[in-house]
Amino acid sequence: MKLHLDLDSLPETHNIFTLENPHRIVIDLPSSRVSTLLSKELKARGTVRRIRYGKRNYDDLRVVLDVNGKPGEVSSRIYQFKGSNKKRLVVDLGMAPITAVEQDKPVDAADLRDIVVVIDAGHGGKDPGALGHRKTQEKDVTLKIATELYKKLRRVKGFNPVLIRDADQYLSLTARVQMARKSRADLLVSIHADAFPDKSAHGSSVYALSTKKPSSRAAELLARTENQADKLFGEIEVSDTRPHLNKTLIDLAQNAVLESSIECGDVILQHLDKVTDLHKPTVEQGGFAVLRAPDVPSLLIETAFISNPREERKLRSRRYQRKIAKALSDGVVDYFMANAPPDSVIASLVTKQAG
Ligand SMILES: [Zn+2]
Repeated sequence: MKLHLDLDSLPETHNIFTLENPHRIVIDLPSSRVSTLLSKELKARGTVRRIRYGKRNYDDLRVVLDVNGKPGEVSSRIYQFKGSNKKRLVVDLGMAPITAVEQDKPVDAADLRDIVVVIDAGHGGKDPGALGHRKTQEKDVTLKIATELYKKLRRVKGFNPVLIRDADQYLSLTARVQMARKSRADLLVSIHADAFPDKSAHGSSVYALSTKKPSSRAAELLARTENQADKLFGEIEVSDTRPHLNKTLIDLAQNAVLESSIECGDVILQHLDKVTDLHKPTVEQGGFAVLRAPDVPSLLIETAFISNPREERKLRSRRYQRKIAKALSDGVVDYFMANAPPDSVIASLVTKQAG
């Protein structure tokens, strides 16, 4: 099993060792910054329980992996990507096979938890969102689809969906992010409907947060429109509330969360593709305020274009609302079946099926 760490600078040396009680793998990287954490393979196998980071002596980075089961021989190599400045550290975790891992004390069934999916119906109350030609208001459509998604997920064992609003009510974007964090969400899904001056624009899109540059000019403009709610209708927010936290550490946590968001968004897109047109076939990124929880994977779904008369009609129909909600629900469930938190009911179900 391999862990990939993409580094901003190539450390001259690095040191890897293991610790026991509990089992940990520690990676020390002098003078290093990590740009992205690709933990796909790790999560899929569920052997790495937790990844933590710490800065030491100003410049040095320590990565600690809490692992289930005893690590075998751990090896590593660092190489530079051909034709780019990216440096990648590959750590082969040398874990004992998964059967040995299962000899670990199993989590008590009573301690298992549901996966919390926080569903945000975009806009609401004094903020109507975008308007269709037939005066359909985005806030109404988003509430209907969000409610359908809530109902669908409630029927799936191991999931606990939470609605941020269940009525025509205004909430600031910051309040929505806070609710997701307070609910200890495993995922935040914010539901919207797109609008564009060109009436022919159509299809669904899935967005994740961009911490740097937005993926396209369109994504940047859309983020600006969606973020207007707080400016137009809300109070002015203080943006940096945690100046004492090391910025690098926030970036690192966000990058790991962002990886999960994009991965989940990809699965959702596969399901949307079956029931509707896709505006863009991959997860796009933009600076959406509602996606800014540093510790909650978050996605914004533009379900269709309310500005397109044909799609406006669809968005009003119960049948289409249900179809979209089913695709979102299937995507979320699929993603968590492959990436279940170790202490979740879903993880125990997946293990049972595999055995
Ligand atoms: Zn919107």
